[in-house]
This record gives sequence, C-alpha cells and structure tokens, in this order.
Amino acid sequence: MGDVRSGLDMSGTVTIDVDVCKGCELCIGACPPRVLTMSEPVNRLGYRYPELASGCTGCAACQLICPDFVFEVFRSPRDPSNKSGAEGARASSRSDSGAWPERPGPQGQERK
Ligand code: SF4
Ligand code: SF4
Repeated sequence: MGDVRSGLDMSGTVTIDVDVCKGCELCIGACPPRVLTMSEPVNRLGYRYPELASGCTGCAACQLICPDFVFEVFRSPRDPSNKSGAEGARASSRSDSGAWPERPGPQGQERK
C-alpha cells in the first residue's frame, strides 16, 4: 500500500528550484498523478512552492507548464534489462521530450 503507480510504464522524479518559484500553482493542477502539493513554508521571494510526493512518472507536464523554469525532470523507463534502474534519462529542459541533443561534431569545420 502507499505505492502510487500510474498506468505509464515509466518512473521519474523532478528537481524543484524553489527559490525561483512564484507560487502560481499551475503545476499543481497539471500533474496527472497529483504528486505535487504546495508547501507551507515560503521561499526567499515570499511564495509557497511545490513539493514532490512519491509517484512521479516523469511526464514533464510540470516542466512544460511552469512559467519560471522551476522543474528539471528525470525519468527512467521500466526496462527489465536495466537492472540498476538508477540511470534515468534527463528530460531536456526546453528542446524536446527526452532525447539528448547531438553534440556538434568536427565535421562542420571548414579549412581555408
Ligand atoms: S513530471 Fe509529471 S508526474 Fe512528475 S511531478 Fe511533474 S507533472 Fe507530476
Ligand atoms: S508552475 Fe512554477 S512558478 Fe508556478 S507554482 Fe509551480 S513551480 Fe512555482
């Protein structure tokens, strides 16, 4: 009991940069499994901020809706062959929904 699971085959977590939160609460309603709640204490700006309970799926809805870029999302597919389970992929902040961008390679160099 108490282990909240979603229907998604994914586990995740988020980091919350509490001191830049403006307390708008958009993230609270956006979180499908409802694992975000507003704190009682306030941050250095004087706003309450979200706190994470267990059951995050890594869906990134909070990251997408937050106007102040408070969240960073980490997620890990429930892959039976991945026994560690600890090496989650970080959901890229603004570029897409999870794939890491390619680093520019040396091919683009021009010689004159
Ligand atoms: S990533 Fe999804 S499940 Fe996790 S806290 Fe954000 S909105 Fe909720
Ligand atoms: S959406 Fe962002 S700014 Fe608004 S309460 Fe949530 S974390 Fe704070």
